[in-house]
Amino acid sequence: MSAINDHWSKTSFELFSKCPRAWAIAYGRRNSSPKLLPTKGSTSHLRSNLMVRAGRRTFIEELGDLFNNKKWSLNYLKRRVKAHIDDQVWTHRLRTDSIVIEGLCTQISHRLMRLRQTDLLKPIWTRQPRRWAYFERFTSIQIGNLALFATPDIVVHHQHKWTLIRLRFQSGPSLPSRELEDMLMVHWAMHKSGLPDRYEDYRIRTLTWRGGQWVQENVEVDAQRVRLAWMMLQHDVQEMTWMKRCISADPTLESLPLARTENDCRGCNYKPTCPASNGLEQAKYGQRIKQGFHQS
Ligand code: SF4
Repeated sequence: MSAINDHWSKTSFELFSKCPRAWAIAYGRRNSSPKLLPTKGSTSHLRSNLMVRAGRRTFIEELGDLFNNKKWSLNYLKRRVKAHIDDQVWTHRLRTDSIVIEGLCTQISHRLMRLRQTDLLKPIWTRQPRRWAYFERFTSIQIGNLALFATPDIVVHHQHKWTLIRLRFQSGPSLPSRELEDMLMVHWAMHKSGLPDRYEDYRIRTLTWRGGQWVQENVEVDAQRVRLAWMMLQHDVQEMTWMKRCISADPTLESLPLARTENDCRGCNYKPTCPASNGLEQAKYGQRIKQGFHQS
């Protein structure tokens, strides 16, 4: 592994699998660091991203206050949701109107209120005796040369075990990267100071907003799955390291592999400067000719 900027996160891995060129621009250069998700795309895609970001930020802020024994009222929750939406709209220069923002505010507040009532999190809000901590997603942990971004949202100690809890504000397809990320949370925890270093001390629970409710899933933790997740991560990092070498050899990025399908290019922030801006197949054809693989 290279000592420079090696990191693993689900976002980075998914982008790498989707399009090495897009990954190279976002993460693969020498001084690049993990970035926010692209903010272009369809209106529903933008709204969905906005909802996830504003919802997550409000939730983390609320947890911070709860940790300090300050409970939020519903009115205050709504005000903070609105503030986070406005902040996201401004930061990402999104065009949206007040009716849309009001609708989003209602939806996010509803999800957050329902979250307090889940079996998993209710004990925290009702102050039942639990040791717990919360974390921001962007806090990585260093394992050797690698920065691992697989942070649980909340960690709760109960009945002699630590529960690593991950929230998903929108369901989305059940991709292998999700399972991998869940299992890598155990590695994250085993390297986090103050937490035990044995996988047997952990259980994993996920809460996903699906079909108008929070759905809890229990993810089994065993030695083989934990070990396999680490091996898969190492494989991903090796592939990314190889891609970094390709970037060094061709800083124009012209020879890098493009997206798999036209669908992968939808919503891509880097399209205006990409050879695929006029069509992916045409761009791939152009690459084949340049590389001398075209057979006439
Ligand atoms: S437009 Fe398509 S091929 Fe080009 S960087 Fe984006 S995802 Fe990759």
